[in-house]
Amino acid sequence: MKTFRDKEVLVTGAGSGIGRETALAFARAGARLWVADINLAQAEDTATQIRALGATARPLHCDVADNNSVQAMADAVHAEIPALDILMNNAGIGSAGRFLDTSLDTWRRVMDINLMGVVHGCHAFLPNMVARGQGGHVINTASAAAFIAAPDMPIYAASKFAVQGFTESLRGDMATHGIGVTAICPGIINTAIVANSIMEGKMGEGARHDKVVQFYQKRNYTPAQVAKVILRAVQRNVAVQPVSPEAWGMYFAKRIAPGLVSRLSEKELPFLK
Ligand code: NAD
Repeated sequence: MKTFRDKEVLVTGAGSGIGRETALAFARAGARLWVADINLAQAEDTATQIRALGATARPLHCDVADNNSVQAMADAVHAEIPALDILMNNAGIGSAGRFLDTSLDTWRRVMDINLMGVVHGCHAFLPNMVARGQGGHVINTASAAAFIAAPDMPIYAASKFAVQGFTESLRGDMATHGIGVTAICPGIINTAIVANSIMEGKMGEGARHDKVVQFYQKRNYTPAQVAKVILRAVQRNVAVQPVSPEAWGMYFAKRIAPGLVSRLSEKELPFLK
């Protein structure tokens, strides 16, 4: 896809962070936006910012964990247009805590949003994209946690490894329909995700949670920087797109020195000490 002018783009989790900035970037490139979030007020705020650019945006309420909610959103979109050009399954939540401290409720909640949210989006929107026969693109927000599974993030890593695997499978499948599929692996990005993460066990202790939040703020790689890379990845139909330098580092480290990565994983992260 060489140009985004007049393309119909839907982004989930568009009320904040990477989703909001990517929606704004697509709007600046001439696309027409559908901005979905579980927090409708935040989606409306994103839509207002897009309209201020002179572009078109429709805010939508949607809980990606709930298939009925995603299907209702797709029905509303398809009542107005035959199919999306670009679907970005981006909504996600963070979670941290050693395995023995995790609850099964947290496992289900995170998998329902981070993995099934992506599946629900594809299930609801891809049939129309395929039937229209004019190609398109699916962007799934995975993570550098899909390269290296830190011991403090068993649930989050499991959800993002799964998104990565699903995305790879879908890419081969959709190629015959001219639909590109890209996994985005951002890195450490300064958004609201850590402040809103489910923290269990030692990770949930106030001081530790604050340290992680401060670490992400100090790193200060912005969601707007991620958005720029995402648009380029779609234009080039990249399969897996690491974004920040640490995401690239993790991508190569896992391939070049998996034994070293495994030994380092046993050590406590320096910024938590
Ligand atoms: P964020 O918290 O700023 O934004 C996430 C958005 O998703 C919020 O607006 C939230 O309301 C929405 N959301 C949460 N649950 C939802 C649901 N059930 N249905 C619909 N919307 C829902 O976080 P972000 O950092 O912009 O995260 C976006 C994506 O990027 C996530 O998938 C996250 O896992 C991934 N990611 C983030 C980072 C990072 O460092 N920030 C790194 C790697 C991957």
